[in-house]
Amino acid sequence: MKKSAFNPEGQQAHLSGKIVAGMERISEAFKVLLWEKAKELGLSPIQIQLLIFTAFHKEALCNVSDLAREFNVTKPTVSDAIRVLHNKGFIIKDHSSADSRSYTIILSESGKEIVKMTENFADPMQQQIEAMSDSDLEHVFETLSKLIFQLNRTGILTVQRTCYGCKFYSRSKSSNYCNLLEKPLFTADIRLDCPEFESA
Ligand code: SF4
Repeated sequence: MKKSAFNPEGQQAHLSGKIVAGMERISEAFKVLLWEKAKELGLSPIQIQLLIFTAFHKEALCNVSDLAREFNVTKPTVSDAIRVLHNKGFIIKDHSSADSRSYTIILSESGKEIVKMTENFADPMQQQIEAMSDSDLEHVFETLSKLIFQLNRTGILTVQRTCYGCKFYSRSKSSNYCNLLEKPLFTADIRLDCPEFESA
C-alpha cells in the first residue's frame, strides 16, 4: 500500500506526496491569515468569506444553497453566519426572488467597509508568489487550474468556474478558445472564477 502523504517516508517515496503535503501547508497559511482578520474585527472566518464573496459575485450566487456549496459547509452554518451579519447591519436580505422562501444577500454600506478592510487578507501570500518569474507563474497556474478542474470532476471540489468546465470553452489542437468572448485563451487567460461561466 502506498505510504501516506503525511508520512515523511511517503513523501520521500513519491513527489506527489510532497506536493500534497505542501498544499496542506498552504491551506494552513490561508486559515492563519483569515483568522488574523477575523480576530481583528470580531467576526468568524466564514462570515468574512461570505462578505468578500458577495462583494465580487453576482447576486444570483449569493443565496444560502449556493454559498453552502461554495464554501463546503452546511446550509445551517451559512444561515447562522448570515443571521449574525444581518444583525450587525453588514448585509441586506433581498426577498424579491420568485421563491418567497429564499432570499439573496447584498452588502450594506457598512458591509462594504468591512470588505475593504478584509479583501486583501491573502496579500502576504500573493507577495511571495509575485516574486516568481513569469514562466514559473504560468507553469504553476497551468497546473493549478487543471488540478482544480480535475478535483471538480471527481466530486471533491463541488464548485468551480474555470474555462475547462465551461460550455463556451473549446479546444482545437493545442489551443484553448472561448466561444463567448470569441478569442483564443492562452494559459494566463484561462479563468478560475469567470462571471460568464456556464457549466458544460
Ligand atoms: S465564458 Fe468565461 S469560463 Fe467560459 S470559456 Fe469563456 S472565459 Fe472561460
